[in-house]
Amino acid sequence: MIIINPLKKFTLLFNAHTNTFLNKVSSAVVLLLILSFNSLFAQKLERIEPMFWFAGMHNPKLQLLVHGENIASSSVSLTYPGVKLLKVNKVENPNYLFLDLTIAPAAKAGKFPINFTVKGKKIFSYTYELKKRDKSAGRIQGVTNKDFIYLLMPDRFSNGDKSNDVVQGLTETALNRDSMYYRHGGDIQGVINHLDYLKDLGVTTVWMTPEVENDMPQASYHGYAVTDHYKIDPRFGTNALYKKYVEIAHAKGLKIIKDVVHNHIGTQHWFYKDLPMKSWLNQWPKYTQTSYRDQTVMDIHASAADRKQMLDGWFVPTMPDLNQRNPYVQNYLTQNHIWWIEYAGIDGLRLDTYGYNDPVYMADWALKVQAEFPHLSVFGETLVTAVANQAFFTGGNTVNRGFDTHLQGITDATLKDAIYEGINGKNGWVDGINRLYATLAHDFLYKNPNTNCIFLDNHDMSRFYSMVGEDFDKYKMGMSILLTMRGIPQMYYGTEILMKNFSNPDGLIRSDFPGGWEGDKKDKFVTDGRTKKENEAFDFVKKLANFRKSSPALQTGKLMQFVPQDDVYVYFRYNAESKGTVMVIVNNTENEKALSTDRFAERTAGITSAKNVITGETIGFKNIKVPAKTTLVLELR
Ligand code: CA
Repeated sequence: MIIINPLKKFTLLFNAHTNTFLNKVSSAVVLLLILSFNSLFAQKLERIEPMFWFAGMHNPKLQLLVHGENIASSSVSLTYPGVKLLKVNKVENPNYLFLDLTIAPAAKAGKFPINFTVKGKKIFSYTYELKKRDKSAGRIQGVTNKDFIYLLMPDRFSNGDKSNDVVQGLTETALNRDSMYYRHGGDIQGVINHLDYLKDLGVTTVWMTPEVENDMPQASYHGYAVTDHYKIDPRFGTNALYKKYVEIAHAKGLKIIKDVVHNHIGTQHWFYKDLPMKSWLNQWPKYTQTSYRDQTVMDIHASAADRKQMLDGWFVPTMPDLNQRNPYVQNYLTQNHIWWIEYAGIDGLRLDTYGYNDPVYMADWALKVQAEFPHLSVFGETLVTAVANQAFFTGGNTVNRGFDTHLQGITDATLKDAIYEGINGKNGWVDGINRLYATLAHDFLYKNPNTNCIFLDNHDMSRFYSMVGEDFDKYKMGMSILLTMRGIPQMYYGTEILMKNFSNPDGLIRSDFPGGWEGDKKDKFVTDGRTKKENEAFDFVKKLANFRKSSPALQTGKLMQFVPQDDVYVYFRYNAESKGTVMVIVNNTENEKALSTDRFAERTAGITSAKNVITGETIGFKNIKVPAKTTLVLELR
């Protein structure tokens, strides 16, 4: 840790060289010299975070991080009706102060100076603002089972503003679309330009990988190596553009999810270069990586050492691990997320590397965020291998032995694996389609499985179309399950146009969306730019996504599943208040199957006909022919 403190250094130098001199002049002159020295070397105020806040928040407490050279030597004061400076906290590094404020519920929006003085002399003043909370109806709506999330990487989706492709002053200066590790120039404006495309597809919600600054030397286009928590990466746009993006999306009836990282930062983070205190990070005598073993967090037989390595080990060498047991770190992160939600009006958060965070901090974080934004939706990334492991992280105290995480939902990797097994696997007692059935039978472990984010692929894994061997029948089977299953379906960008590739390295599954860049040979955002098969895929997703929008059974309904028989798996989505039951029949075999509907009477009483949602044709309901490798989606009347 390097603490730059030239003021202190100069004072020592001054004293050493002036001993005799000091004896000869009056103390008044010395005082004058020191005073003028202080103003000459007045500390520069680097930043105050949050740079502004909001009047009328649920939590009256606010902790301001103040960073500036030798700032700890100054006194702080402020005067504003309803705002009190309770405590000025000094920490190990004199370049920081942490100011504890309380803001009374009655405090009005407005501006006031925070004054910094040294020996009674004001050295600088920061105009702090309490903005008015925006409580407009429809802002911060939450993302639910009614929605369909589109996940994209802003660097790789569309370049809407060439002027920000290379930004002077940032470490990585080159743009190279031929390299999967370099920046490609995509940005928020590019996403704004294609919101209508997404809306047409039937998407209701956009989730981008993190947009905040990642000023790393290389390969930080993904956004998970944060270097400034309060600033949109200039290559993606500005804070104001991000806010505008949310507003434009809302005006189009689309919702926005923000991806936030509690666990780690990038090594070029401004505070990593000048740490407030040693315990800001989880420090190790020598570099120690996390074990990536989520089991250690929930295993009743786990050793403390294993648990510590999982939680406090660094994700990778370029991503230092934040110490979330440090109350200053807790405040910093929690306030940052609350700031973004209120500032931009975000509808949901996706929490990166959920299981690697300190559980006590995360539970407290969830309560604080939910207290400010009761409608906000939150789901944590849990790339684990069993339902119980996922459920452990979810709120509601169902399986986690007396500890409530207060987490609404998780990314349902186990269901993803089960869908793959149901499509690709060979049927057996617990294999093939029976895996999907059995996995869903574990839903009793969740307080509410409908808050799980369900998916077939994302930015960290091989693309779905490749994983089913580019078999279009299997593609349709998977998409049909995704868009009719319980939970909040999420699709990865490009899956609607059959983008493919296997991960490892990750860059292979993060290629540019064709047509997102001026001069691209093909523009797959438009019908004419897509092949016949790509249009077939696009139209298939669009049909199901739009049907989902109009189907109360899929939006809010329950799930009932039946034990697979004769290799055919049947589930229903139904809703007591609506007459529209949806029946889904999965036949993963190479043979057409004849299905008698008698055994489903619980859900089908009075049903005489069914409409095939994809083809629009009405079929007789008594006996149903299910083609080979097909998921039939039927609307029952
Ligand atoms: Ca750009």
